[in-house]
Amino acid sequence: MTLQDHHGRRFTYLRLSITDACNFRCNYCLPDGYQCSDSTPHLSVDEIRRTAMTFARLGTTKIRITGGEPALRRDLPEIIRAVASVPGIEEVALTTNGWKLPKLLPAWADAGLTRLNVSIDSLDPRQFQAITGHNRLQDLLGGLEVARQLGFTGIKVNAVLMREHNADQLPRFLEWIRETPVTLRFIELMQTGDNHEFFQQNHVRGEDIKTQLLADNWQPVLKNTTDGPAQEFWHPEYAGRIGLIMPYSKDFCQSCNRLRVSATGQLHLCLFGEQGFDLRPLLASDETLDDAADFVRHCLDDKKATHALHDGNTGVRTHFAGIGG
Ligand code: SAM
Repeated sequence: MTLQDHHGRRFTYLRLSITDACNFRCNYCLPDGYQCSDSTPHLSVDEIRRTAMTFARLGTTKIRITGGEPALRRDLPEIIRAVASVPGIEEVALTTNGWKLPKLLPAWADAGLTRLNVSIDSLDPRQFQAITGHNRLQDLLGGLEVARQLGFTGIKVNAVLMREHNADQLPRFLEWIRETPVTLRFIELMQTGDNHEFFQQNHVRGEDIKTQLLADNWQPVLKNTTDGPAQEFWHPEYAGRIGLIMPYSKDFCQSCNRLRVSATGQLHLCLFGEQGFDLRPLLASDETLDDAADFVRHCLDDKKATHALHDGNTGVRTHFAGIGG
């Protein structure tokens, strides 16, 4: 039976982090680069498979593999294959910074990847490098081309718009999707425990972009049950679509349909919640998966109606696992 909480929300979608490590230094996320602060090993392929089995028993049909940067794990094809082979899991999605995408994507596709999200914060190579610390924009755009050749549809491109860094890119992004059939999702910059000043200087309201899109004849798209929290828009003159992810908008949590498991097996009920429930001991063997499913069901009793972002409680000490799913 599908997992449901006390607020009537159904959970069919899991975000599964497989590593905390990242090789990019995005100015809004890890400006000083990734610093390992916890020596706990990341989930093994078997533990990941059992996580997928546990959630499949609870009605989960879609699993997004994320990080950190998931491409840093050499066993990523094995991980994808393990998740994709679990009965009931219909979609295996990946969120990546696109590192080595043209080279690595064919093996991921062969392993059973069905959906791809790539983060591209600017279409200007210099600005891209200034934001991420890497001069890899062309490589990444080449990766999108490989994805299309491999038959991926519904490719999503995530961009965090920041007033002082790339907000000027909005027209260029729009021009790009006139001919490029991807969904371009603007993620509102979120405040974490250590980016207060940066947030104040750079936060761009998604609602303002929405107003502009509606004025320019962009039309809202109806959602499926496993879709994430983005509000999507289409336009008859554009091959691509636009998505807005606005965690500060008033109804953001009403459509919540996902839970999160960290790279060390902690279950988080909210993407912005720091407190985790330790699922890992129940992932050690196939014999304890009924207990793992009961554990998740029991933990869900604690899920709150909304996150606490508006009270200035980010729920996230430093960088966070991302909502661009
Ligand atoms: N490394 C992968 C990537 O770059 O897509 C996956 C993890 S990353 C944390 C997932 C998403 O979270 C990215 O699209 C990133 O832009 C977004 N993100 C990270 N920190 C953010 C913040 N403070 N506000 C908004 N989005 C953020």
